[in-house]
Amino acid sequence: MTNEQLQKMVEDISIKYFAKPFRHRAYFNSRLKTTGGRYHLNDHNIDINPKMDDGQTHEVLIGIIKHELCHYHLHLAGYSAKHNTKQFKQLLKAVGGSRYAPRTQTRTAQIKYIYRCERCGLEYHRRRRINLVKYVCGRCHGRLHLVNEIQQQGA
Ligand SMILES: [Zn+2]
Ligand SMILES: [Zn+2]
Repeated sequence: MTNEQLQKMVEDISIKYFAKPFRHRAYFNSRLKTTGGRYHLNDHNIDINPKMDDGQTHEVLIGIIKHELCHYHLHLAGYSAKHNTKQFKQLLKAVGGSRYAPRTQTRTAQIKYIYRCERCGLEYHRRRRINLVKYVCGRCHGRLHLVNEIQQQGA
């Protein structure tokens, strides 16, 4: 997605969910590491972590945009831009924004190995290989086996 497409998406969401125009700039900022997006109090622009877009449903991205637009519209209306106000919580709920920006590396992106217990079927999602000689199922002490190795997403 380009910055132009992001800008258009933010404008559309603003009209559709907030019934107010977004008159500033929205752009991707690949320097954002742990946050999904930021609303800037000084220039009213919004920057978005490009890793938040899945390229398909844009579901996470839309949640983040709604979140940042809550800051935007409340701030421009003279309210606090903080998270812990009644206005922010109400507005966020009303538009269905995400409460927190998801971590840059989502859990699924970090998980590389899935193991399953041969006895009780419990699954273990791990970022690193498990030493199957040393480790057994924590629930039933059954043997674990590797179900699949997930290809690392281009995160
Ligand atoms: Zn926020
Ligand atoms: Zn088990």
